[in-house]
Amino acid sequence: LVSREHHPDRSVIRVGGVPIGPDTLTVIAGPCAVESPEQTLAAAHMAKAAGASLLRGGAFKPRTSPYAYQGLGERGLRILADVRDETGLPVVTEVIDPASVELVAPYADMLQIGTRNMHNFALLQAVGTAGRPVLLKRGFGATIEEWLMAAEYIAQRGNLDIVLCERGIRTFETATRNTLDISAVPVVQRLSHLPVIVDPSHSGGRRDLVVPLTRAALAVGADGVMIDVHPDPRTALCDGDQAVTRPEIDDLAHIVAVLSPLMGRT
Ligand code: PEP
Repeated sequence: LVSREHHPDRSVIRVGGVPIGPDTLTVIAGPCAVESPEQTLAAAHMAKAAGASLLRGGAFKPRTSPYAYQGLGERGLRILADVRDETGLPVVTEVIDPASVELVAPYADMLQIGTRNMHNFALLQAVGTAGRPVLLKRGFGATIEEWLMAAEYIAQRGNLDIVLCERGIRTFETATRNTLDISAVPVVQRLSHLPVIVDPSHSGGRRDLVVPLTRAALAVGADGVMIDVHPDPRTALCDGDQAVTRPEIDDLAHIVAVLSPLMGRT
């Protein structure tokens, strides 16, 4: 279902009216985690300044350590909905288990499946019937074939509104959190009709890499990027080291504005 074999044209997926696909360059930005109404609203304004048309933000955070910040849960979802009302930015937010799909879906314009859950087949099937577009991140230990099969689990339940997100894979390299597999973008676009975006924030785990990796992603033909922003990264409760502020926000807006027409995208 996700292969280009029987669907040669590349798909456009709409999220709250915002298209993601071959004719556009879509920026999704926002805080890694929702921490408070003020922080989320400030981050949403930063996201807009960076050229974003969709707001990201985690209310349920799948953290490696059980002692790390786990998110605000439903309170965080309500904050995201309020910030959507105030800014007009549709919301992309993560769901971490099948039992909470019913809770998260009404607040979300797009459901995110994080890297740790790419192999959670029960969750993939649950979002396949949730009536929302899905952002499916690549498992950090998954091959491209496994990633596409995970998408197939969602599609098989009747939901073909799927956007794939390359977010880095685990290699021997320790200078970055994960290694952004930039070649995955054109490889997957050749194999699948689904849009492919890149997360330069979670792959590198480093603020100084967000702008260069965004450039690389757009140059290689990604249909968009997803970026962490935070009004005060030093106090961030989650992944502050990768959150951008100004001047990176201005750089990102500039890159998107310059590259979009060059790539024949709006
Ligand atoms: C995220 O986008 O909030 C996130 C946790 O990313 P990943 O699943 O790619 O680590």
